[in-house]
Amino acid sequence: MKKLLLILTSIICLLQKTSSQALYQQYPVYNGTGLGLSYTPARSLFRIWSPTAEEARLLLYRDGEGGNSFQTTSLLKGESGTWWVQLPGDLKKTFYTFQVKINNRWSDEVTDPYVKAVGVNGRRGMVIDLAETNPAGWSRDKSPVFSKNNQPTDAVIYELHIRDASIHLNSGIAHKGKFAGLAETGTVNQNGMATGLDHLKELGVTHVHLLPFYDFSSVDESSSKQQYNWGYDPLNYNVPEGSFSSNPYDGVTRIKELKQMISAFHQKGLRVVMDVVFNHTARSENSNFNQLVPGYYYRHKKDGNFSNATACGNETASDMPMMRKFMLESVLYWVKEYHIDGFRFDLMGVHDIETMNTISKALNAVKPGILLYGEGWTAGESPLPDSLRALKKNVAKLNGVAVFSDDLRDGIKGSVFDLKENGFVSGKASFAESVKFGIVASCKHPQVNYAKVNYAKAPYANSPGDVITYCECHDNNVLWDKLVLSNPGVANADLKRMHRLALTIVLTSQGIPFLHAGTEFMRSKKGVENSYNSGDSINAIDWSLKTENIDLTRYVEQLIRMRKMHPSFRMTTAAQIRENIHFDGKVPVGTIAYTINGTAMKDSWKNIWIAFNGTSEEKTFILPAGNWKNALQEDVTKHYEQRSVQVGKYSAAILFMD
Ligand code: CA
Repeated sequence: MKKLLLILTSIICLLQKTSSQALYQQYPVYNGTGLGLSYTPARSLFRIWSPTAEEARLLLYRDGEGGNSFQTTSLLKGESGTWWVQLPGDLKKTFYTFQVKINNRWSDEVTDPYVKAVGVNGRRGMVIDLAETNPAGWSRDKSPVFSKNNQPTDAVIYELHIRDASIHLNSGIAHKGKFAGLAETGTVNQNGMATGLDHLKELGVTHVHLLPFYDFSSVDESSSKQQYNWGYDPLNYNVPEGSFSSNPYDGVTRIKELKQMISAFHQKGLRVVMDVVFNHTARSENSNFNQLVPGYYYRHKKDGNFSNATACGNETASDMPMMRKFMLESVLYWVKEYHIDGFRFDLMGVHDIETMNTISKALNAVKPGILLYGEGWTAGESPLPDSLRALKKNVAKLNGVAVFSDDLRDGIKGSVFDLKENGFVSGKASFAESVKFGIVASCKHPQVNYAKVNYAKAPYANSPGDVITYCECHDNNVLWDKLVLSNPGVANADLKRMHRLALTIVLTSQGIPFLHAGTEFMRSKKGVENSYNSGDSINAIDWSLKTENIDLTRYVEQLIRMRKMHPSFRMTTAAQIRENIHFDGKVPVGTIAYTINGTAMKDSWKNIWIAFNGTSEEKTFILPAGNWKNALQEDVTKHYEQRSVQVGKYSAAILFMD
């Protein structure tokens, strides 16, 4: 009867050309556990969800690629659209795929979406004993404390691609481009300065956000030729990427090496954030999702084609119960099995608010203080209404999930879409209000004129923990390149001042600060705007830059130390921001100055006065009354008296009263 109903609904949908979502809503939902493989040496139990299948089968192989299946087993129909089979004996090291028959036609052979271990290039699942993937001491591995009371604003995030960190000749790292490379300690560049993991520890960040390291599609893991990709093309969500491991053919190795890396981070006091890309899959028609349950996991246009809010060919449907379940179980798995400390959701604006809040609630129950944030936008139109999606403007409806502030990002250095445009730090005075908007972490503040903010024309954050405070990330030109490209003819020394000013704004503003790897020594991508597959020559971090720009690196370390020591920079509520930050009324055009009431924030600094001069000339500021001291070991603010201070071009001043 149910089947008949499905067929009838299907016909009606086709006739009316209405959204196919109505049809998929009729599919039975499997609320149970145990999708995927449950292994013991005595038996293996396989379970998939495919409610429209007429038949389903499991194919077993000796290898992860090539050769013929040595056994094909029909699956039994289970509850709520599931299919399962239990095979006796120890199947360890056996590879497997699934096929389903729909409308009398067998699907492609695919991995199960819930698969946890795979062979080379993720083509086939691999039966493994997960307990054997644990490195020595794994049961004692603990995420370091980064905040006394789990405040997201106590975090300082550093965004890094695994390969970029070590692949350069001068990284001093042995396992170049691999998980194992980032687990190495005691590594130095040619001048004896710390690189890799030791560098991150020295810098003082709390969280390292790693670009995708789930199994992505674009890099041929079997190739000895150098290939490069950021990895925003998911293949198997619950498996680590093989090209970062020393042996992509063995399902155990990549898992073990990733865990070793995470454990090394934890031992250094660093937390690990995983970049997840649930918004689309690398393949559309031929993805494992779509082969097992055609259409279900994706949104569609009225004509039945894949909708494409991601600009990557398809758009998943987190609002469908089984996609929501998949996302939730996937992030929980990464936290429990790999001890992951946070997630960055790519194009989070594609996902619905309910899913994100469900995820936040479940993850916080398992790991209080887990850091969750995402891009509150999409790359195209979505059929799901704006009001339901996790967009920047809806962040107040999200619980414990922050969004990136593109307002501040572009206010600081100019729009990412307009190469030539300058920002506040490079002399564009009209962007001062956008920077002020960033200083207050997109919260409501009586001294911000929201009409003059570049993008958002209203405060969107309920609290500073809702906002990622940044000026650059892996996307678009890096800060240094953007400054070079938008300031032709400007002296290098001045560009460097702008760069330092930009990082000063990020690390003193409210919200959750976020740095892109290498910015602390002016990393360049040689002007390449989108380097997702540009190769190592563009993307590799050149560790000789650290020697060249060690003054900037030490300055950034100092800013991070200051931020961690002083709660005034890490306010936790919008009310604190409203009450304790006061902008100076009369300041020169192209500058900003403000005072923080440190006493109210229980800070050892009673008052803090901060000024940013984004202009090409030294500017004089009138100081609030009191005995001010210089917080920075910098010469830019040397010439101040008790009532006024000169701040050099493209520079910041940070003064305090104790
Ligand atoms: Ca892969």
